[in-house]
Amino acid sequence: MGGVFQYAVISDIHSNLEALRAVLEDIDRRDIERILFLGDVVGYGPDPGECINLVKKRCLHSVAGNHDWAVIGYTPTDYFNYNARIAIEWTRDQLSDEDLEFLQSLSIVKVMDSESLFLVHASPRQPDAWNYILTLYDAEVNFQYFKERICLIGHSHVPFIIERLPSGEIVIHRDEIALKDSCRYIINVGSVGQPRDGNPKAAYGIITDESARIVRVGYDISSTQEKMRRAGLPEFLIERLEKGM
Ligand code: ZN
Repeated sequence: MGGVFQYAVISDIHSNLEALRAVLEDIDRRDIERILFLGDVVGYGPDPGECINLVKKRCLHSVAGNHDWAVIGYTPTDYFNYNARIAIEWTRDQLSDEDLEFLQSLSIVKVMDSESLFLVHASPRQPDAWNYILTLYDAEVNFQYFKERICLIGHSHVPFIIERLPSGEIVIHRDEIALKDSCRYIINVGSVGQPRDGNPKAAYGIITDESARIVRVGYDISSTQEKMRRAGLPEFLIERLEKGM
């Protein structure tokens, strides 16, 4: 059980400043004061430094993602596919010492005891292996690796709300549910800067002690794409933004 709270939860910004600004405006419009960030501020997109500055300024707690760790050399780049690797190398050249220090300062998990929240980019079982939680079986295993009521994740860029009933049964929900005191949850808040669930709008979560909701926000995709073209980033990464895949 956690106390009373309300958070906006953002993840996988991937240097997409237009998407990040649109999400922050939506959060401000709803008067949500506290923001949590689940990793991958950089990689893929054209504005890594500006996105780092906004995360620093706006987020109460932030954890590291695989792209953040790759840029600072903590995760080897041969783990990544070709396009991701090109973007990681490009990103490294754009960042100031201060930006790099911020990425180095990120922890890999964050436990918020009073709210009974566990924050991690990929999975609680082995946070630095960057495994995906894609199936109900993956979720079932991972429920054993945190003790808090709610685990918040990103990484796959596909939002979901997974509920574990007291019986052990696991149920998946898509957009919005009321949270029950007797249940535990793994919630993927989706991606701000590169959604992959077929909906190109930016995604984030609004999580309270009694509800979880995935929100979608439209943004100026073509201006992000234009900047990516000017930066010479891979065409595949540019095109996928408008497809949301
Ligand atoms: Zn990501």
